Amino acid sequence: MFGVVPKALWQRAIPADDRNRVHLAARVLLLEERAGPARILVDTGMGHKWNERGADIYGLDPDGLAVEQAVVTAGLDPDEITDVLLTHLHFDHAGGATRERDGRVEPTFRRATYWVQERNLSWARSPSQKDRASYRPEDFEPLVERGVLETLEGGGTWRPGIELEISEGHTTAMQLPRIHGPEGVLLYGADLLPTAAHIPVPWVMAYDNEPLKSMDEKQRLLERAHADGWVLAFEHDPATSGCRVVRNLKGFAAGDPVAF
Ligand SMILES: [Zn+2]
Repeated sequence: MFGVVPKALWQRAIPADDRNRVHLAARVLLLEERAGPARILVDTGMGHKWNERGADIYGLDPDGLAVEQAVVTAGLDPDEITDVLLTHLHFDHAGGATRERDGRVEPTFRRATYWVQERNLSWARSPSQKDRASYRPEDFEPLVERGVLETLEGGGTWRPGIELEISEGHTTAMQLPRIHGPEGVLLYGADLLPTAAHIPVPWVMAYDNEPLKSMDEKQRLLERAHADGWVLAFEHDPATSGCRVVRNLKGFAAGDPVAF
C-alpha cells in the first residue's frame, strides 16, 4: 500500500498482521439528491464473489456487509439506487457491482445505470501484466451484457454539483468525484488518496502503474484541496472517513478528522 516507503515507517500508520496484511476498509459513498430522485453510489466494495482462497488472501471480514445490505442500513431500498459511479474497475471498487444469483452473475442494483470512464473499461479488458490480477471480467462484463454500463470520456461536470477529476497514475482513467454539497466540497480520493496516511506526496502505492504521475497528480490536487478547504474522503482508511489538508514543514499532512 505504500510503495517504496520503508515498513518501519508505514507500520506506524497502519500496523501489519503476521502475514503482512493491513486492515483496510472498502468505504463507498451514497449521494442523495435533495429535491430529486437521484440516489448515487460511488464504488461498490469487494462484493461477495470470492472463493475460500481469495477470501483468505485478502482476509475478507466474514461479517462485512454486502454493499446492497449497506444501502438498506442507510435507509434505502437497493432498487432506489439510480446510478453507480465506478472510480475504476479494480475488484475492490467494482466487486460489488455484480452478484451471483442461482449460478448466474447479474447487476447488483437492478434499476441503476453504472458509469465508468471509457478508457478504464478498455484497459480493464486488456490490462498490463502488472495489474491484470486486479481486473476480473465478472465484475463488469455482466454490466456490459445487460446494457447498463455507460462510458464517459474525460472529466468535468458530470451532474449538477458533481465534477470528475481524471487520474492516470494508479491505473488508466480513474475518476474521482468532487461533490459540492451544502457544507462544502468533498473529494473522494479512491486509490490516489486511499487513506489519510497517503497524504504525504511520496506515499503512493506499489500497485500504481505510473507512480511519478500519481505523485504529480497528488501534488496538484492537494494544493487545491488545501487552498479551498476541501474534505478528502478515504475509501480504504479503516479509521478516518475524511479530513481536510494542512501544511507543515515537510509538506501536506492530514488535518483533524471530519465526519460526513
Ligand atoms: Zn485500484
